[in-house]
Amino acid sequence: MPRKIPVDSCLIIGAGIAGLVAARRIQDRGIDTIIIDKGRGVGGRVSTRRINGARFDHGAQSFTASDPRFEELVEGFVDLGAARVWFEGFPDEKDAVRKEKRIHYYGTNGMSHIPRSLAAGLDVMNNERVTDICREEKHWRLFTSAGGNFKAPALIVTAPMPQTLELFNECDYKLNSETVNELGIIKYDPCIAAMFVTNRQSKIPKPGGIVPDSCHVKWIADSFTKGITDEPCGVIVHSTADFAQSEWDRDDEKIADALYNEIKVFLSAEPSAYQIHRWRYSQPYRTYPKRYYLYNSGSPLLFAGDGFGRASCSIEAAALSGMEAADRLIEIHA
Ligand SMILES: Cc1cc2nc3c(=O)[nH]c(=O)nc-3n(C[C@H](O)[C@H](O)[C@H](O)COP(=O)(O)OP(=O)(O)OC[C@H]3O[C@@H](n4cnc5c(N)ncnc54)[C@H](O)[C@@H]3O)c2cc1C
Repeated sequence: MPRKIPVDSCLIIGAGIAGLVAARRIQDRGIDTIIIDKGRGVGGRVSTRRINGARFDHGAQSFTASDPRFEELVEGFVDLGAARVWFEGFPDEKDAVRKEKRIHYYGTNGMSHIPRSLAAGLDVMNNERVTDICREEKHWRLFTSAGGNFKAPALIVTAPMPQTLELFNECDYKLNSETVNELGIIKYDPCIAAMFVTNRQSKIPKPGGIVPDSCHVKWIADSFTKGITDEPCGVIVHSTADFAQSEWDRDDEKIADALYNEIKVFLSAEPSAYQIHRWRYSQPYRTYPKRYYLYNSGSPLLFAGDGFGRASCSIEAAALSGMEAADRLIEIHA
């Protein structure tokens, strides 16, 4: 018997963790879902890059689980072979005793293993940047830079909130000023990632990642010691937000030099190559207190992502936000 759900389809902007988790849940209830993402692949800020064969997690490094709903999802990743336990407690160069005791997981072949396993069986349109959002009588219509044109009665937007507000500002459809003010409180730190390729294992002690004693670098990790590659290949460096803010416009070479000088004591060989990636929105430092925001329940428009909810680590926050936004959509229209 066909399901009696007035919302027969849903568009989701963003194939990051929030968008993918939401899509799985909505699709499981028989609602057709299309995810639209400007990136080449799925995962958003959960991203693994290859340089000359070397593999780097240049976005999120690991994740923890504290909510039983996310724990269940993580158990599923582990059972599928997509995730493994990396370490317990955050390794910090200055602090021999690990104060933070949580279990950290990583994606088995790199962090992007997680979104790739979530995306299996979902309809994801990549390389499609949404440039305009219009409201028609009972539908949302999206236009993309690749010429795409998508229509559905429900829409969930999971891009980082500053990007979402910029998008709506330029769109045909305008959000009301109360919503813009409420959601405008969500703020992110920037981060610059430097990937240094070397064919020697670094001196970063096991488990292969550490918070170094540096005011410019907040994290370094060796892909081989971490376990995402079979051969030594290189080290990822994440800058502090202050460094990213002050050095954002400098050229890549100067940034690479500055970060290399901070971490060279951990390297066993000179890098043979490097790449720099600038994350304008890395992790939120101020979030919206609820897990999602329902703007319009007539033709539903919901906002979700890691900028929503309190007191959980970012990937978990994104997943829980996607789950709760999906559940709200299902609740309204079941
Ligand atoms: C350097 C760095 C280190 C991090 N470390 C950790 C960590 O160790 N642990 C942890 O838990 N979290 C970490 N995070 C944060 C974590 O990656 C994020 O919290 C999480 O991945 C956010 O998921 P999301 O789905 O909310 O957003 P995103 O992953 O940002 O997904 C949003 C998607 O929307 C797409 N999009 C945006 N605008 C448009 C548009 N106009 N049209 C189409 N698509 C669009 C983007 O391409 C993106 O794929 C880190 C992040 C960074 C950058």
